[in-house]
Amino acid sequence: MAVKNLPVVPSGDPGALGAAANYETWRIVRPEITEPAKVNPIVTLYCPEGAIMLEESGVTVNYKLCKGCGICAKESKGIQMVPEYTGPKGIF
Ligand code: SF4
Repeated sequence: MAVKNLPVVPSGDPGALGAAANYETWRIVRPEITEPAKVNPIVTLYCPEGAIMLEESGVTVNYKLCKGCGICAKESKGIQMVPEYTGPKGIF
C-alpha cells in the first residue's frame, strides 16, 4: 500500500471551536429550570455540550453552549423545554 504525502493544513488552537460556540443564534427551544428543588444534579453528566452545571446556587444552564437538544429535560424533573421565540408567527 502506497503512502500518500498529504499536505500539512493549518488547524485551530486547542479549544478554539468550543470557545467560539454560541448556539443562541439557531436554537429553537431552550431548557428552563422551573422547579430547582426537583432537578437531579446527575443531569449535569447527560448534557453533551457541558452546558448544564452544578454551582453553589444549584443547577444552572450556560445558554451560549446549550444547543437545545432537550436531553436534560428528559432526564430530570424540574426542567422544561420552552420555545426560544415567542413573538408573532408568520412571514416577516
Ligand atoms: S438542552 Fe441539551 S445542550 Fe442544552 S443544557 Fe440540556 S442537555 Fe445540555
